[in-house]
Amino acid sequence: MKAELITIGDELLIGQVIDTNSSWMASHLNAVGVEVTRRLAVGDTKEAIKAALAEALGRVDVVLITGGLGPTNDDLTRDALAEYFSSNLVLHPEILNSIEQRFILRGIPMPSVNARMAMVPDKASIIQNDWGTAPGLLFEIGKAAVWVLPGVPAEMKGMMTASVLPALMKAAEGNTIVHRTIQTIGLAESSLAERLADWESGLPEFIRLAYLPAAGAVRLRLSAQGPNRSVLESALDLQVNMLQKLIGSNIFSFDDRTLEEVVGDRLKKANATLCTAESCTGGAISKLIVRVSGSSVYFKGSVVAYSYEAKEQILGVSMDLINKYGAVSEQCVVAMAEGARKLLNSDYAIATSGIAGPSGGTPQKPVGTVWMAVASPKKTITQCFQFGKNREFNIERSVSAALHLLLNTMDS
Ligand code: ATP
Ligand code: MG
Repeated sequence: MKAELITIGDELLIGQVIDTNSSWMASHLNAVGVEVTRRLAVGDTKEAIKAALAEALGRVDVVLITGGLGPTNDDLTRDALAEYFSSNLVLHPEILNSIEQRFILRGIPMPSVNARMAMVPDKASIIQNDWGTAPGLLFEIGKAAVWVLPGVPAEMKGMMTASVLPALMKAAEGNTIVHRTIQTIGLAESSLAERLADWESGLPEFIRLAYLPAAGAVRLRLSAQGPNRSVLESALDLQVNMLQKLIGSNIFSFDDRTLEEVVGDRLKKANATLCTAESCTGGAISKLIVRVSGSSVYFKGSVVAYSYEAKEQILGVSMDLINKYGAVSEQCVVAMAEGARKLLNSDYAIATSGIAGPSGGTPQKPVGTVWMAVASPKKTITQCFQFGKNREFNIERSVSAALHLLLNTMDS
């Protein structure tokens, strides 16, 4: 079953209120087997509301609307829908009574504008609102079902959960949507797509793939749709297994945890501690790590060793080594990581040293060159990266690459 969402309110169009209703509704509709195929926000005019509804009903039979059901003059949804469905507004005494009761409970007289909310289009049925005053409306005209809910998120959620979702779940019976998340790191979206091209073209028709890139990482989402949940689950398991074979070392999670959360969980599980010695990342790795609550269990601290002196005096990197190989070198990050590991008495230490740019590059070491090392109880692993010219981007990529290198070191 396909549905479209329309959110109503000038505040959504001027950027004053973020439309969180749509995303909440879409994810909950998905969970009951309703596929949301379009979302639209329109302003507080009857013309815009009617036009949006006409368009939506030209494509799908189920439309959900939020906003503009309240008592004030800018709340025009009820009137617009009544006009659209050629329906008359009639006073609903029970609703008027329940609104009056709410005001009596609060000990204040009911402002007369509230009576508007008791005006119900005669072709609509009422969706009970136990979370606020304005009732919701359901128009079932021909094949079309149009659900209208208040814009206040708590009221919308309450009514969706109590009334709308159970009804739609019943109507969508026989259709299930199952999602899988696979989070990858270390491959840009285009390289990932290239690696996965053959696998992707072999996906069965009922499974869809989406690439959702973010800083340094790409989230893959597989969605399967069909009548039988267990069939979908096992089909997805099979595809996830294939992915694991193709890009296993680039996958860091099969759920929604962030990279730093995954790192934290892995360290806790291994009962291991971590510290960092950061030159070009300037503490950005440790900033990310301490964003996770409970990180004090595994994170010892960080040395931001930006200058030669700091590298030498705090971490014990010899000046001879720096003069011979440079601070951006494999030798230097090895000495930084091993120095920090000893100094902060940790099991693992990450070190970074690079040329974040935009200035400071040389022909041998162009801007974007970043050396990294991870020292562990067994050995020290290094890797050199060639990122781009943008300083902020280079630091961001370095942070995720460093955490990825740590995870791979812990695996090996
Ligand atoms: P009420 O009966 O409370 O007036 P209403 O149906 O008239 O409800 P609106 O006036 O459109 O709803 O919105 C009420 C409040 O709900 C807005 O101030 C806004 O903060 C919030 N809201 C409205 N639409 C959305 C949305 N799509 N996403 C998140 N919040 C919203
Ligand atoms: Mg309102």
